[in-house]
Amino acid sequence: MFDPASTPSRVGLNGGGTPQGATLSRPEPCLGCDIGLGAVVPPGGILLREGGFAIHALADRSPIRGWLVLTSERHARAWYDLPPDELSRLGPLAARVMAAQRDALGAEHVYAFAIGDVLRHFHLHLVPRFADTPERLRGRRCFEGGPGDMLADVEAAHAARAVAAALAR
Ligand SMILES: [Zn+2]
Repeated sequence: MFDPASTPSRVGLNGGGTPQGATLSRPEPCLGCDIGLGAVVPPGGILLREGGFAIHALADRSPIRGWLVLTSERHARAWYDLPPDELSRLGPLAARVMAAQRDALGAEHVYAFAIGDVLRHFHLHLVPRFADTPERLRGRRCFEGGPGDMLADVEAAHAARAVAAALAR
């Protein structure tokens, strides 16, 4: 439920004004590209663009305030498709975001997950863990939140913008 790309999309097949049989510029819709281009706007919008990467809140509903995603601006399948100069900036940028999540939100710790089985565009989940994060949402279980765990978009946006403000300091 965290990744709209997990739902088979029919965009470009029958709808969207694309004639059937037309050559598409991408083999399939890509949420990562759509976020970078502004076609999909996560709660709070793009918080930072730097060094070939964009920082934004989870595009789908989140059970954890301040759950951010670091996405490559280019369409790259995974870490192994990023060029060396971008890789050299990735670690320091992720660490800065984590520090901002701790400073702005009071997170005790921040997890980093890069799985990429569903969304095949490089993205690194940076997920805060708070003192009050329930056991059922700790570690990789943050991906298994139920409908009752999900934050309102306004709350997710507020937390995202608080981290953005800390990043700008
Ligand atoms: Zn993409």
